[in-house]
Amino acid sequence: ATPTALLVGTGRGAQLGILIKGPEVLESTRRVDTVVLDKTGTVTTGRMTLLAVHAADGTDEAEVLRLAGALEHSSEHPVARAVADGALRKLGALPVPEDFANVPGLGVQGVVEGRAVLVGRERLLADRSMELPAELARARAAAEDAGRTTVAVAWDGEARAVLEVADAVKETSAEAVRRLRALGLTPLLLTGDNRAVAESVARAVGIEEVIAEVLPQDKVEVVERLQAEGRSVAMVGDGVNDAAALARADLGLAMGTGTDAAIEAGDLTLVRGDLRAAADAIRLARRTLGTIR
Ligand code: ADP
Ligand code: MG
Repeated sequence: ATPTALLVGTGRGAQLGILIKGPEVLESTRRVDTVVLDKTGTVTTGRMTLLAVHAADGTDEAEVLRLAGALEHSSEHPVARAVADGALRKLGALPVPEDFANVPGLGVQGVVEGRAVLVGRERLLADRSMELPAELARARAAAEDAGRTTVAVAWDGEARAVLEVADAVKETSAEAVRRLRALGLTPLLLTGDNRAVAESVARAVGIEEVIAEVLPQDKVEVVERLQAEGRSVAMVGDGVNDAAALARADLGLAMGTGTDAAIEAGDLTLVRGDLRAAADAIRLARRTLGTIR
């Protein structure tokens, strides 16, 4: 990726909502044969909502919302927004955590009302030797089969609840995948989310290859592995967790609706956050360089 923050729009590119960092980007754009798509915020809207709270036997649902909501209120993650907004809507107000830390790609941890609270992937709990009781494991499996993301809540060393959140696939994503395929590119879905959710999104937009449950720092390794196979890789992403992979890819495309870190790391910005512009950019580059394939 080009180490400059200067965005240069070519005339036609700017019309299509594509900003290019420099003319040298066109050459790599022409060559790519594989396109890695981040899920949350790229293929999906990233605007999640809290759909359900499953509390363990003997656990109070309002307490789950209060403690989890308080902690997630300090995080910018789309899942965190959904949990905090859902909790605020139900309770009206949330306590302020005494301590808070992000655990990238896994969730958040902190102290609320004197309790050590964790909110995030089941793996976050498993890493601390906690497991879901049977009734929560069942709720989680059913929710994930339905294509929802689940988040586990624990405090004082015990798993207490599973929250269900969901995110909608962007209306333009399936058409974008068709256009990318029509240009001869192989699409791949890459996400930190769980496999069942990732597969349901992939199915909805027509992607066959799915790489799920990848930690933020490992996304760049997925790009490197594809490059080692001789592929020329475009990566499309929006999050802080995509920045390293965007920089390493032969072509990094950032969602203009995403984080500054992603935009800085990319070679190209899709201003409107419309994935179809990724296909437009590649077609435009090939045409500009006189090599339509
Ligand atoms: P993606 O790769 O699709 O953009 P992320 O790497 O940002 O997704 O997140 C991966 C998963 O980690 C999420 O689906 C969620 O389960 C969990 N997660 C990350 N941050 C949080 C958080 N603040 N609260 C709850 N869960 C989180
Ligand atoms: Mg994302």
